[in-house]
Formats: sequence, structure tokens, C-alpha cells
Amino acid sequence: MHEKCGVVGLSLPDEDAARPLYYSLYALQHRGQESAGIVTHDGFQQHDHVGMGLVGDAFDERSLSGLRGSNGIGHVRYPTAGGVNECCAQPFSVSFKSGSLGLSHNGNLVNADAVREELAGLGHAFTSNGDTEVIAHDLARNLLEADLVRAVKATMERLHGSYSLTIMHDETVMGLRDPQGNRPLCLGRVDGGYVIASESTAIDVLGGERIRDVRPGELVVLAPDGSGYDSYQLIDTGETAHCFFEHVYFARPDSVIDDRLVYDVRRSLGRRLWEESGVETDVVLPVPDSGRAFASGYAEAATDDGADTEFAEGLMKNRYVGRTFIMPTQDEREQAVRLKLNPIKSTIEGRSVTLIDDSIVRGTTSTQLVSLLDEAGADEIHLRIGSPPIVAPCYFGVDMASREELIAADRSPEQIEADIGADSLAYLSIDALTGALDRDRDELCLGCVTGAYPYDVEGEERDRDVSRPAVSAADD
Ligand code: AMP
Repeated sequence: MHEKCGVVGLSLPDEDAARPLYYSLYALQHRGQESAGIVTHDGFQQHDHVGMGLVGDAFDERSLSGLRGSNGIGHVRYPTAGGVNECCAQPFSVSFKSGSLGLSHNGNLVNADAVREELAGLGHAFTSNGDTEVIAHDLARNLLEADLVRAVKATMERLHGSYSLTIMHDETVMGLRDPQGNRPLCLGRVDGGYVIASESTAIDVLGGERIRDVRPGELVVLAPDGSGYDSYQLIDTGETAHCFFEHVYFARPDSVIDDRLVYDVRRSLGRRLWEESGVETDVVLPVPDSGRAFASGYAEAATDDGADTEFAEGLMKNRYVGRTFIMPTQDEREQAVRLKLNPIKSTIEGRSVTLIDDSIVRGTTSTQLVSLLDEAGADEIHLRIGSPPIVAPCYFGVDMASREELIAADRSPEQIEADIGADSLAYLSIDALTGALDRDRDELCLGCVTGAYPYDVEGEERDRDVSRPAVSAADD
């Protein structure tokens, strides 16, 4: 099961962790709107509250004040097409012989079913079909036989796939990132304590300071009194598979990932888009909000090259319309785009227009927007996209459509241009993408744009052979 989410963990000296965790979850709201939850530990026992909906709906004063203790973890869960999933709201919390455990997971395991089956054979009873419970059971079992760090390492050696986790064992909060570092996870300092979160915006909101990314294969253990942290490089393959789509769409532009501000990366992708396929038009329009940084970089590069073009807001977003992407039917998704975005006629009428977005998935948004701009009287409509064509699904934590629904799965850009009805369409190349991210191809997960994946996925091609030699601080 895909876990498309945001995670956080926090240890403070004596102040309750629940409220700051709640604010951090607000800062990660874009990573999940289906449910939100917090688990804390007060030194004696674990407290948890999980609610459906947005962070602001999932908690109230009563639930927050019941979450006692200065250590805790939190989670926001991404919705999937086809409805809510109460069974899988997180953090997952449970008490075992080996103590209490809480887990928040972002990512997706590839071998969860095999590990679940094996544990079920050993007598473990499962209450959900989620990956996170599998990790919890395996860890609980290992904790019976080993200290914390060795137990986590043993669990890590069994898991294959993508996971950024915050874990709480009794009152000890930890952060763990899979050996290929597929999903982001970072570490920061807040007043008197330490925090681990999917994105640095969750640290910013607490007035804290980002220290660094958690390294692929690293376990960070926070001191329960907030005084510091220990780091253990449990697995070091030296090979990464960072998700490029975090930089393109998923992460907030004001987050820092890999020591780079996501906003700057998107602007530089926009600049490269101009360099590769720039067309001079009267106006450059972003699709709000996803295309904004790309369009600003694109328009700036165009102006630097002497193009006579204006960067303007020509589509206004109704901020009260929820997420259109995951609506179940095509009709609803089409209607929702019009509900969400409305053109400013005076910017568009009688002018040639370049419309810029980060990505095309099913093609619903671009098709609708091209016809909206056409109705608003645009002379020419050129579409420029800040990522390569999405040709295959994501199995590791980003909700993409299925292969049948992906417009680029079986069509060339020329066919898509005709389907969408634009005067021209150009995507960013994979080389320009890796160049802007300053990464080699084999340091990234490019599965959705190449159709070959860095992990074993049944029925899909593998793009590398990730070896797993372990260098372990736990063995020292
Ligand atoms: P589509 O309309 O299906 O072509 O989807 C593309 C639009 O949805 C673009 O405006 C993207 O910014 C946005 N988008 C891309 N990927 C996702 C995703 N995984 N979840 C939600 N929105 C997305």
C-alpha cells in the first residue's frame, strides 16, 4: 500500500510536544490531507490521537491537551482516489512486550507482503494491510532480542523499498531514512530540543533551524530530554534513488532539500526549459500554484535573452476548491479545473501566450486550461512543462494515475500537443532535469519518466542493481 505522507518527530526538554507537532503538521499539510495524527509519550505511557481530514479538523483543544509528554511523532496522510482509508490513518501505535511503539511512514515498501506473511506465520496478528504495521511488528520482534540500534538495523535489512520514518520507542524519538534516500527527511534544532521532519518547513514553523538532511541509510536517535542526538549510519550502499518529483511538484517551494531551496531548483528548471524550447510570446503565464516558480525562471531567462515578453498572472485560483487531482471521475476532474482556475481576460485577449506548469499527468489540467485560454481570446497558446513526460506510475509514495490514465504512457509529445489543442507543447528533457538538480541519473529515482525503477517492482524494469553491503556503527 502506498504511503504518501508527511512525518515529524520532536523531543523537547520539558514542554509538551503536542502543540509544536500540531504546528509542524500544518506546515506539512500539502503532503497529506486525508488524516492527521500525533503520538506522544510522557515517560510512563503513550498517548495518541488520530483524526480524519485536514490537520485543523483532526485536532481540537481537548485532543491536543490529552497528548501529554515532551516527546512525540506526527503524521499527515495523503488521500488516494476512491475514498478515505480510516484503517490506515497514522501514526501507527501499539504496545508490545518490548515496550510501546509509534511509527509514521512516508514511502512504500516493495516487499511488505512477504515480510507480513513471514511474521503472520510466527504468530503476529495484523489489523491493517498497511506497510507501517509490518515495520512495527518486525521492529517489536527484534527489540526482544537486541538493543534499539541493532533492532532497527535488523529491521532495515529486511525492508526493501522507500521509507522515511519517524519512530517512537517508549519516549525515544528516532528518524530513519531508507538506504537509497527515496523520500526526503531532515533534522533540525528548535528552542531547547531537536526535530526530524519530511521537510524543513516543519522546522521553520517552530522558529527552528534546519541542520541537515538525514542521510540515506541513517538512523538519528534524539535524546528524550532534548539535549542532543546520535547518528548511526546503519546501511551505506553509496547509491541513492532520490525522488526527482519532490523537487518538481511534491515538496513546498520554501523547503530546503539536499541543501537547496526547492523554489530555486524550480526556477532553474524553468530557465532550462526556456533554453531548450523557448518560444517568444507576448505573455508568460504560470498555472497557479504549481507552475509559478518555473514560469518565473522561464520568463527571466527569456528576458535575459532579449525576448520581449511579460510575466503575468493570467489565471486566478479559487483557494476554496479542494484537490482536483484525486477526484474519482474524469467529468468531476474536468469540472473542478474550471471551478478552481479562472482566466483574467485582459491579460490574455488578443495575445500570444506561453502557459507553464510543472507536469502533465492525465492531461486534464492542461486540456481544460488551453480551452479556457482559447475562450478568453488568446491568439496562440504554447504549453511548456517543467518536467519530462510522465510515462509510468510511481510505486514509492507519490499518487500518480495508473498507466492507462497517463496521457504520455503511449503517446508522443506531438500527439499530446494535438490532444490538448495547444499550438505547441514542449517538455523538459531528462538531461536538463538532472543538470538542474546537479545529480547523475543513477542518483535519482526517475521511474515515472523512464519506466525503469531503482527497486524491484513486479512486472516492471529495474534501472540498476542496488547492492546492499552494510557498514554498521551498530557492529562497532
Ligand atoms: P493532470 O491534470 O492529471 O495532467 O495533472 C497535472 C496537474 O496536477 C499539474 O497541475 C500538477 O501540478 C498536478 N499534479 C501533478 N502530480 C500530482 C500529484 N501526484 N498529486 C496531485 N497533483 C499533482
